[in-house]
Amino acid sequence: IRILAIESSCDETSAAVCINGKILSNFIANQTVHEKYGGVVPELASRAHMQNIVPVADAAIKAAAAKIAQAPGVGHPAFSLQDIDAIAFTQSPGLIGSLLVGVQFAKSLALALDKPLIAVHHMQAHVLANLIAEPKPDFPFLCLTVSGGHTQIVLANSPYDLKVIGETIDDAAGEAFDKSAKLLGLPYPGGPLVDKYAKEGNPLAFKFAEPQIPELNFSFSGLKTSVLYFLQARKKEDEHFIEKHMPDLCASVQYTIINILLKKLKKAVKETGVKNVCIAGGVSANSGLRTALAETGKKHGWQTFIPAFEYCTDNAAMIAITAYYKFLNNDFASLDASPAARAEW
Ligand code: ATP
Ligand code: MG
Ligand code: FE
Repeated sequence: IRILAIESSCDETSAAVCINGKILSNFIANQTVHEKYGGVVPELASRAHMQNIVPVADAAIKAAAAKIAQAPGVGHPAFSLQDIDAIAFTQSPGLIGSLLVGVQFAKSLALALDKPLIAVHHMQAHVLANLIAEPKPDFPFLCLTVSGGHTQIVLANSPYDLKVIGETIDDAAGEAFDKSAKLLGLPYPGGPLVDKYAKEGNPLAFKFAEPQIPELNFSFSGLKTSVLYFLQARKKEDEHFIEKHMPDLCASVQYTIINILLKKLKKAVKETGVKNVCIAGGVSANSGLRTALAETGKKHGWQTFIPAFEYCTDNAAMIAITAYYKFLNNDFASLDASPAARAEW
């Protein structure tokens, strides 16, 4: 089963080739046009996808072909676009203009090559990114998905049975990082910079509000307000407060976010009895979260899993692996498939 997968939900244009559940290539074009605006500008994202999608898909096919040609003893004929068995695309959720570019590209290709289409839900793909490389979690597993737009705890009973058992009622964890970073005067996206400064700081230096939210749900909007009021008060006493305390501020913000996340994850393990625990999404690149997950897992006897960095942020490899399971399940989309900014699972 040879799949070409396309991801274009936000500001990354990506294409990947997956053969029998193995990822052969995963190309990602990051869009830099948004940096000076402090956030993703939808219209610019769509335009950049238009420019990137053909070369990115072409690069993914060529890289896969090169890998196949190198494989010892394979004796495989040259691999090209014609050898693809299905074309997968991200259908939802995401920016509608961005999704449209990927969907239309996939549909055109399917029509031209006379191959079936597979529609993939982006958040399910973030979860199933954990199935790309060894060691893989056995089912059932829990996945804490922490990205720029979502924060969810998912119970995965099988590739076809994924249930959201908790989620944020306001901001996502990635937004909590980025908005706090903005208050600290850091450029967008601030998450990776907070991570960097936090390494040199004391996580207990300052205390920020932790919300009390029922069940397995999260809230991060209060943290942003807490950071804002704290900084306003301190800046009145010392206008250089932030510059003097950047590492401690970042470490304390990061510590608070990780605490909120891990408390609910522990609760989810307790309630479900499932001890295979994964993380996914861009925020799972955070070194503090990775360490905290490993330590908590060790303490509580969990098996923990974190995808490689390139499979944590937006990428087509996760779309491809999800599509592989859908192919096995005969779950194909029709040529009238259309994207959706939001969608139920
Ligand atoms: P979604 O998948 O919900 O539609 P998205 O795909 O835009 O959103 P990702 O690309 O998965 O989100 O993740 C981006 C987020 O991850 C940003 O908020 C960014 O700041 C955050 N992030 C990336 N690296 C780190 C890090 N090392 N520490 C903290 N946050 C990080
Ligand atoms: Mg992104
Ligand atoms: Fe994403």
